Amino acid sequence: MALGSAVVNTATKHAAGRQVKVVTMSIGKLRQVVPDSLSFYFDIIAKDTVCDGARLDINIVPALLRCDNCKKEWEPDFPTFRCPFCADSKVTVLSGEEFMVESLEVEEDEPCTAPQ
Ligand SMILES: [Zn+2]
Repeated sequence: MALGSAVVNTATKHAAGRQVKVVTMSIGKLRQVVPDSLSFYFDIIAKDTVCDGARLDINIVPALLRCDNCKKEWEPDFPTFRCPFCADSKVTVLSGEEFMVESLEVEEDEPCTAPQ
């Protein structure tokens, strides 16, 4: 729910009053966000904002971890912070913790073509 309002707030700020059609997001796998559930809350929170009726496109960013000890890198299937090669627990998250709005598609301002 909190993530949903964070998305709507960010999109609303960037839209600067224009109606939002599509919000494209990158979300790291380690966030364990369920896209369907985020879309569900997004729809609810977006009501009566410029995001009302907008589509949420979610790109899941694969997780990549690196062991600080043996320097090997791997893609975990679930958040595990222990090196599968040497069992060291000092690992660096290279990617997979993203949670950001990548781009917005907004309604273009209608040019005023009416004769004076
Ligand atoms: Zn290691």
